[in-house]
Amino acid sequence: MSKKFDVVVIGGGPAGYVAAIRAAQHGLATACVDAWLNRDSSPAFGGTCLNAGCIPSKALLESSELYHRAQIEFANHGIGVGGLELNLDQMQTRKAGIARQLSGGIEALFKANKVTGLFGHGYLLPDHKVQYTPHDGEPELLDAEHVILATGSSPIELPMVPFDGERVVDSWGALEFDSVPQRLGVIGAGVIGLELGSVWARLGAKVTILEAMEQFLFMADAQIAREAQRQFKKQGLDIRLGAKVQAGEVGDDEVRLRYEDAQGGHELPVDKVVVAVGRRPYTEGLLDPIAGVDVNERGLIEVDDECRTTALNVWAIGDCVRGPMLAHKGSEEGVMVADLIAGEVAEMNYDVIPSIIYTAPEIAWVGKTEEELKAAGTAYKVGSFNFAASGRAKAMDQDAGLVKVLADAESDQILGAHICGPMAGELIGEVVVAMEFQASAEDLQRTIHGHPTLTEAIHEASLSVDGRAIHAINR
Ligand code: FAD
Ligand code: NAD
Repeated sequence: MSKKFDVVVIGGGPAGYVAAIRAAQHGLATACVDAWLNRDSSPAFGGTCLNAGCIPSKALLESSELYHRAQIEFANHGIGVGGLELNLDQMQTRKAGIARQLSGGIEALFKANKVTGLFGHGYLLPDHKVQYTPHDGEPELLDAEHVILATGSSPIELPMVPFDGERVVDSWGALEFDSVPQRLGVIGAGVIGLELGSVWARLGAKVTILEAMEQFLFMADAQIAREAQRQFKKQGLDIRLGAKVQAGEVGDDEVRLRYEDAQGGHELPVDKVVVAVGRRPYTEGLLDPIAGVDVNERGLIEVDDECRTTALNVWAIGDCVRGPMLAHKGSEEGVMVADLIAGEVAEMNYDVIPSIIYTAPEIAWVGKTEEELKAAGTAYKVGSFNFAASGRAKAMDQDAGLVKVLADAESDQILGAHICGPMAGELIGEVVVAMEFQASAEDLQRTIHGHPTLTEAIHEASLSVDGRAIHAINR
C-alpha cells in the first residue's frame, strides 16, 4: 500500500523544510523525508545549516569573539577580568544545545502546519513517486503529485590530503574539536576557512590558511577584500596566497603539509588540518536512472529559472542546484516552488541575494562589485564611508572598515553595496530591501537613519555617491 501526498520533499535542510512548510500552508498534503544523522546517530531536521553549518559555526564565532574581546578589548573599556578561563566543553555544549532546540523547533512547525516529517532515506522513482526507507525499517512507497529534491551538498575532499576524521577534518569536524589545536592548518581561504580559522585563532590556535588563488576573496569587491585582509593580518591570521598544496603526511602527532607558491616549495607542520575548498552538490543514492532527472557534469541537478527539473512535476532547490550555496537562497527557492505548485505566480530575484562572512569585522555584500561593473562597461558612481567616523562604531570599539555603495551613473539606481565592518551582516539587509524595491542612492540619502547607529554609515556612503556626505570630506 502506498501513501498519497500532494508534495513530497526529499531533504529537510533550510531549502527542504521551508518548502514543506510553505506547501502545507497552501493546504497541500505534504511530507518531508530527511536522512540526517548526528554524530550520536540521532536524526534531526535542519540539514547541514542547522546541524553542522550556519548555526553551530555562528554559535562558536559568537563565543570565541566574546572570549577574544574579553582578553584584548575589555581593558580599553576600563574593565579588568582577572582569571579569564576558556571552558571549551561548555562552549561546545551551548552550541549543541542551540542546534537541538532549533531542530526541535522544525518538528514543532511541521506538527503545527500538518507536515508529515519522516526520518530516513528518500529515492526518486519514475512518475514522481518516492521510495522512503526509515532508518530502521522497510522501504515504503510514497505516491506524490509533486516531488521537491533538496538534498544539499557535501564537502570536497582533496586526494592528497584525504579526510581521516582525526587530524584531517572537514568543516563539521572543525566544529567539534574537544581541545584547541596548537597549530591549525586550513586549506582554502573561502568563507569556511575564514570563519572557522577565526574561531580557533581567537581561542588560541596558531592558524595558517593556505589559499590556492593569488587573489584574496576573489568573489568580493576588491577594495573590501583588501580591507578585510589587512584586518585579518592584524589579528595574526597567517593567510598564504598562491599556495598549492601537494601533499599531507599524517604522522602520529602532526601533519606535514607540503605546498608550493611563487617562492618555491614549503613544508608546514600542524597538529590538525581543516580542508575547506568548497562543497559539491549531493545526490548520491537519490535518483532512479529512469526517473528522468538530468544532472550536469558538475553534479548539479539541472533546473530552469523556476527550479523545474527535466522530469515532470519534479523540482529541485538549494545547494543541489545552480547558484550560491547559501541557506537563504535555498529557502527562498523552496517558497517559490511551493507557491508555483499551489498555482500562484512566483519568482525569485537571483540578483539580490546577500552574502555574509561572519568574521570580525564581518564582510557583507549584495549586487555587483566595482570590478563586475567595470567589466560589463556599466557607467557607475561610487560612494563610501569609513566606520572610523561613526560615533556608534567608536562607542563599540569596532571602528575598522567601511561601507561602499555603487549606483548607476544615469538612473542613480543602487547596483551594489559592500561592507567590511561591525554587524555588516545585519546592515546589508537595509540595502537588500532598497535594491529589491529598485531604490536609488537618493532614496537612501533621503531616508532618516537613527542616531547614533551603524546604519548611518550606509546613509553617509549613499550621500557620498553624489559628493554630499556630511561626516566625511567629499573628494
Ligand atoms: P542541506 O542543509 O545540506 O540539507 C540537505 C538535507 O537532505 C540533509 O539533511 C541531508 O541529510 C538530506 N538528504 C540528502 N540526501 C537525502 C536522501 N536521499 N533522502 C533523504 N534526505 C536526504 N549558509 C548561509 O547562508 N549562511 C551561513 O552562515 C552558512 N554557514 C555555513 C557554515 C558551514 C560550516 C557550512 C558547511 C555551510 C554553511 N552555509 C551557510 C551553507 C548552508 O549550510 C547551505 O547552503 C545550506 O545548508 C543548504 O541547504 P539545503 O537545504 O540545500 O541542504
Ligand atoms: P568557498 O568556495 O567559499 O572557498 C573555497 C576556497 O578554497 C576558495 O578560496 C578556493 O580558491 C580555495 N581552494 C580551492 N581548492 C584549493 C586547494 N586545492 N588548495 C588551496 N585552496 C583551494 O568554499 P567553502 O569555504 O568550503 O564553503 C563552501 C560553501 O559553503 C560556500 O559556497 C559558501 O557559500 C557556504 N558557506 C557560507 C557561509 C556563509 O554564508 N557565511 C559560511 C560557510 C560556508
